[in-house]
Amino acid sequence: MSFDYDLFVIGGGSGGVRAARVAAAGGAKVALAEEDRYGGTCVIRGCVPKKLMVFASEYSGMVEDAQAYGWDIQPGAFDWDAFKGKLEAELDRLEGIYRNLLKNSGVESFDARATLVDPHTVELSDGSRKSAKHILIATGGRPIVPEFPGSDLAITSNDVFHLEKLPESILIVGGGYIACEFAGIMNGLGVKTTQYYRGAQILRGFDDEARGLVSEEMCQSGIDLHLGTNVLEMTREGDKIRVKATNGDEALFDQVMYATGRAPNADDLGLEDLGIERGRKGEILVDKYSQTGVPSVYAIGDVTDRVNLTPVAIREGMAFVETVFNGNPTSPDHDLIPTAIFTQPEMGTVGLSEEEAAQQEPIEVYATSFKPMQQAFAGRAQRVLMKLIVSQASRKVLGCHIVAPGAGEMIQLAGIAVKMGATKEDFDRTVAVHPTMSEELVTMKTPVRTA
Ligand code: NDP
Repeated sequence: MSFDYDLFVIGGGSGGVRAARVAAAGGAKVALAEEDRYGGTCVIRGCVPKKLMVFASEYSGMVEDAQAYGWDIQPGAFDWDAFKGKLEAELDRLEGIYRNLLKNSGVESFDARATLVDPHTVELSDGSRKSAKHILIATGGRPIVPEFPGSDLAITSNDVFHLEKLPESILIVGGGYIACEFAGIMNGLGVKTTQYYRGAQILRGFDDEARGLVSEEMCQSGIDLHLGTNVLEMTREGDKIRVKATNGDEALFDQVMYATGRAPNADDLGLEDLGIERGRKGEILVDKYSQTGVPSVYAIGDVTDRVNLTPVAIREGMAFVETVFNGNPTSPDHDLIPTAIFTQPEMGTVGLSEEEAAQQEPIEVYATSFKPMQQAFAGRAQRVLMKLIVSQASRKVLGCHIVAPGAGEMIQLAGIAVKMGATKEDFDRTVAVHPTMSEELVTMKTPVRTA
């Protein structure tokens, strides 16, 4: 049986574009359909614009620090329009790069929505049909807002980059990556920032001590964080939003941003008719090779809700190509993934939290919290944390947690050692780089506790 293509990819985000390019580079005939902008969540409405906003927001504190270091410099106002213009131009440039990457690797792309018709056929939004030996679904995810009175007044991370003007006040709801990162961004840009989180401490699932310090520092920097608090209802009042909270508070905000999780984009793709199974959150269920129950259909990235991170989607895409086009069955490795949360201060983490490790086996905990030189000199009270979780039996470092400016950069490197199975003694054998914050990772001699 002959097909139009060897591979048809649905979704032009990080995972889909990488899989399409690598398959095409190996000689496969590949097409890709994207209904929105090329680059997907990460490039267009996620990691990239978010990090640029983090950079923008960090300059506010830098002026004061520079003054403390002797600079005659005065803080000025932040110009949202100027920043937004540059941000939009940068995203246009990056989208162009993504389109070119596809074109230059010989992938045919369609600016259209694609749905599945049968195990080897997709239908595009213009009504045309394309057949392919393999179909890869890489449609990502989207933010979700729970239903409650006035929930339609909330914006999400999709909207925050397009605001006409920077609000004077904002309420951010949620305690995950996105909520905490945007609380730091808005606060840094000079917006009066309030955050509600329904649980006892933000960043659930991460090391308790690390998230405790992030939370403390966020409050220190001026974020009005309310734990154990949720929204009951919201009403429009002039150009503001009145919010009634579960703790009895009532307040007015210019904007309310919900960051209460994301859902896989797997609706209306035609999956049900083909008998492709979905999980509790609506994610596409796949095996360890990213294959669905229909052998010619695979899925990667956030739509499968495994580990929802760009570099993981890219790895899943590469493993798919290796498996299907290179005859070398390869499953993506989801173990010991280093990751960073761009809160202020940043958190970098790899491996097990102290709480998870203690459940698993006897451990030693090495940790130190101190005022870093650069900020201490400028008179800031800010503290950082360096922490290692060590197996008593194997001496392996099971987890490394860093809360500090630049923690994302540090954890990438510490992640290599942890992934290689380094022991505490391997860390100790490494000479310190002085004077740095991360040298503490190789100079901690005595455990602060065992568990
Ligand atoms: P998360 O799932 O991480 O967090 C959702 C938050 O919203 C949790 O604090 C949750 O509370 C809370 N929540 C859920 N439902 C409700 C509700 N009905 N009412 C009130 N609060 C609610 O989602 P995010 O949207 O923050 O991030 C999605 C994913 O995106 C992350 O898991 C991550 O993989 C990825 N991401 C990664 C980044 C990075 O690597 N730096 C940056 C941004 C996103 P509870 O804890 O009680 O469940």
